[in-house]
Amino acid sequence: MGRILGRVEYGACEPNRFFIHDDTSGWSISPLFADPAAAWEAYDRGEGQALRDAVPKRSTLVTVIRKVLAHGRAFDANGEIYREPSFGLATEDRLLYPLSSGYEESRYSFLRAGGVLHVAEEVDGGFSGNYDRPLCAERWNWSKDDERVAFEDLFNQPLDLCPQCVAALIAQRG
Ligand SMILES: [Zn+2]
Repeated sequence: MGRILGRVEYGACEPNRFFIHDDTSGWSISPLFADPAAAWEAYDRGEGQALRDAVPKRSTLVTVIRKVLAHGRAFDANGEIYREPSFGLATEDRLLYPLSSGYEESRYSFLRAGGVLHVAEEVDGGFSGNYDRPLCAERWNWSKDDERVAFEDLFNQPLDLCPQCVAALIAQRG
C-alpha cells in the first residue's frame, strides 16, 4: 500500500496530530503535523528528512496517545481505520512509540517502581526470561513490587514520569 496517513489522538486535552506511515516497511515516520496536507507536502518534497526539517524536535512533554492508521492518504468520513489502534507515547511534535506495526521494535510499557513511574523496555534476561528495564537504568534489579502499567490505563490522565526516562526516550526516537 506504500505511504499512508496516521493519526495521533491525545484524548480530550489536545487536538489530534498526523504523521506519515510507510506501510511497505511497517514503520511510522515520527514527526507530527497539525495539518495532514502539510505532512504530505513535506513528504513529497523530500521524504523523512523533509518531514524532520519541517517539524523540529522541541517538545519534551510526553503524553499517552492512541495511534491509528488510515486506509490511504486520508481518513475517510465514516471513521474506518486500517489495522487495530494501539496505545503509546508522543510529544507534541514526535510520535515516540510504537513506531513499527510489525515485531522489529522492542516492547515498551510503564513500570511503577518505588513510587516512580518509568518508561521501560522489555529486555531478554536469558534464562530468567524477559523483564522490564527502565530506560533511565543501565542495569535493573527486578523487584517483586515492580508493577507493569499498560499505556492504555493512563490515557487521558496527567502523567508524572521519571524525567531521566523522558529524556532517554526523546533522545533515542524521532
Ligand atoms: Zn526512569
